[in-house]
Amino acid sequence: MSEKKFSRPETTIVTAGRDPEANFGVVNPPVYHASTILYPTFQSLKKREVKYTYGRRGTPTTAMLAEAVAELEGGAHCALAPSGLAAVTVSLLANLKAGDHLLMTDSVYGPTRHFCDTTLTRFGVDVEYYDPRIGGDISTLIRPATSVVFVESPGSVTFEVQDIPAIAEAAHEGGALVIMDNTWASPLFFKPFEHGVDISVQAATKYLCGHSDVMAGTITTTEEAWKQTIDGHGEIGMCLAPDDAYLIQRGLRTLSVRLKQHMETGLELARWLETQPEVARVIHPALPSHPDHALWQRDFTGASGLFSIELTPCTDDALAAMLDDLELYGMGYSWGGYESLIVPQYPAKIRTATKYAAEGPLLRIHAGLEAPEDLIADLEAGFDRLNAAR
Ligand SMILES: *Cc1c(COP(=O)(O)O)cnc(C)c1O
Repeated sequence: MSEKKFSRPETTIVTAGRDPEANFGVVNPPVYHASTILYPTFQSLKKREVKYTYGRRGTPTTAMLAEAVAELEGGAHCALAPSGLAAVTVSLLANLKAGDHLLMTDSVYGPTRHFCDTTLTRFGVDVEYYDPRIGGDISTLIRPATSVVFVESPGSVTFEVQDIPAIAEAAHEGGALVIMDNTWASPLFFKPFEHGVDISVQAATKYLCGHSDVMAGTITTTEEAWKQTIDGHGEIGMCLAPDDAYLIQRGLRTLSVRLKQHMETGLELARWLETQPEVARVIHPALPSHPDHALWQRDFTGASGLFSIELTPCTDDALAAMLDDLELYGMGYSWGGYESLIVPQYPAKIRTATKYAAEGPLLRIHAGLEAPEDLIADLEAGFDRLNAAR
């Protein structure tokens, strides 16, 4: 379905999934609101000889978004979901059955982990967490029943970069599929299918949307992984509402300029934070101090605006003094919008395969599109409050 038409992703972001000529010259794809779609003849209904069969199974609005994302990720086809988490869960449900073994990175997004520990476990899938930095040694964990190896690189709280080509090689040798949560880099900065991934999931809620107002997910697959995945997607009734699909394709058009600015501002903040005495460690894959920096440099073409810092130990009261009066950083989940965010995270509590050791609190920062000088000044004032309350 998706063909790579331009070599530069910036151009693809603008051109993919649009066809103004088919729509009176209007630049953006129109919003089709549909449940019923009429068949012109008895024969066309009987043979389902129409491109669109029913609202849940897609409309030109959703098809054009799916085509754009498939082309940008470099996959063959894309299916849409009403949230990033739904995109993760449907990709797993469609490709696992009772008795299967799932290898799941210990650094995975919390709600993905929760789904594995509840629904998947209840349905008889054997879930095993592995060290995200395992690389090719994952071959030692692969069994005959292993059907999926799930990767998220970097992990969106602790930012371990995974050796995806090495993991994919071992997985494929053992007959397992590789599903990747590619939300952090977006398809602009990491090309999953060039690194051996079979199914790439995006929380489109984040950077594809870019404006903190839509929930959506995308599931892009190779030609080989498509049928099983789209069948499972259809069986459980997944679909994305038309206005949400429209807004995601609208946000997508500015992804390259937004993400480059998020990267630049994030790095400026990260470098400044590395010089601050209140900060024990900055965890940003694009900094040379990051333990997986070389791997990030090898496989990624950029960094998004999301990273973490570990503070030197302080009380909750001191932390509250810092966080409660920040002017530019909202305290809230999600990320990828135009505004900056800061949120405490507690990975040590949920890990099982690896230990997350830190003495001070971990704060995850999303660098928004505000001026970096203002963002730094806001943090500086926050550190002053923190020190005064220590
Ligand atoms: C937010 C997020 C998701 C889930 O997306 P929702 O749209 O919030 O359901 C999945 N993976 C990662 C890495 C995320 O950050």
